[in-house]
Amino acid sequence: MAEAEEKARVVVVGGGVAGSLLAKTMQGHADVVLLDPKDYLEIPWAELRSMVEPSFAERSLIYHKDYLSDATIVTSSAVNITEHAVLTADGHSLPYDYLIIATGHALASPASRAERIKEFQRDNGKIESSESVLIIGGGPTGVELAGEIVVDYPGKRVTLIHRGPRLLEFIGDKASKKCLDWLTSKKVDVLLQQSVELGSLSDTEKVYKTSGGETVTADCHFVCIGKPLSSSWLHDTILKESLDSKGRVMVEKDLRVKGFNNIFAIGDITDIPVSFSLPTCNSPSALFIMLLYSGWFFSLSQPPFIT
Ligand SMILES: Cc1cc2nc3c(=O)[nH]c(=O)nc-3n(C[C@H](O)[C@H](O)[C@H](O)COP(=O)(O)OP(=O)(O)OC[C@H]3O[C@@H](n4cnc5c(N)ncnc54)[C@H](O)[C@@H]3O)c2cc1C
Repeated sequence: MAEAEEKARVVVVGGGVAGSLLAKTMQGHADVVLLDPKDYLEIPWAELRSMVEPSFAERSLIYHKDYLSDATIVTSSAVNITEHAVLTADGHSLPYDYLIIATGHALASPASRAERIKEFQRDNGKIESSESVLIIGGGPTGVELAGEIVVDYPGKRVTLIHRGPRLLEFIGDKASKKCLDWLTSKKVDVLLQQSVELGSLSDTEKVYKTSGGETVTADCHFVCIGKPLSSSWLHDTILKESLDSKGRVMVEKDLRVKGFNNIFAIGDITDIPVSFSLPTCNSPSALFIMLLYSGWFFSLSQPPFIT
């Protein structure tokens, strides 16, 4: 009798949108290991809605074990890579035939799903008990949070402060202006080209001095500025020469890490140029997902997250 064919060992580092989707797609076809410090996948674009409606998080925080029935889940962080294995913070060595780096942005969320839900409940309590809210950062997260608050709590006074000359600087002037007009129509006070010293912020703060000399009073604040990439752990690994000056992993067109045959990188951690010409595809991971669905990268029969 012929021996069963041994499956290739694929270690996926990072259980965000990109890594989780890949692990789910590959399970059954390969011996898949997903390494993530959290026990759940978070759908990031549900984050701000979950702050005003915490029960929403019940649907957007998905235990890895609920969609990975045929893969091994290791709850820890990668700290090093050799040519044959990934080393974890809790002292394990995970051998691989193929390695996928999908560590996106540095982890700020709790490791347990239950704790993450409590975090949303605390944020919601803060919003509910405040008459006025200060949001620092006029990128997508700050703008979306301001929108969610004024829609659900039209009586609250919201101030949005942004360092740049216009909101959502990554999109065109016209869309940026439309967003400003909408927020203004909902009585959000938008302060542009001003900032608040983040180091001096505390939870009991009520009065905030801006760089422009203005004083903002608010019962609570939320800092909505970009998170750094999670690539510092690669600095002393075999991939150290594969990072660009911004700490992104440099990949070939087929997402293979430059100089390696069996190591790939996907999602926000890569140096794939971001295209804003497609309205629903404004990040490397979104692009990656589109490629997956289009069958360009692997062949897929159905979308993996049907809830
Ligand atoms: C509020 C919000 C709204 C968004 N809306 C949109 C949208 O509408 N459209 C769109 O295209 N994009 C949107 N984005 C961006 C999109 O969410 C990201 O492009 C996407 O999440 C990137 O996925 P990723 O898996 O590459 O990285 P991440 O989601 O950052 O996931 C990285 C994973 O790696 C893990 N990790 C980190 N370091 C290590 C380590 N050393 N070892 C092991 N694991 C590690 C983390 O725990 C995490 O699970 C939004 C983002 C946010 C925050």
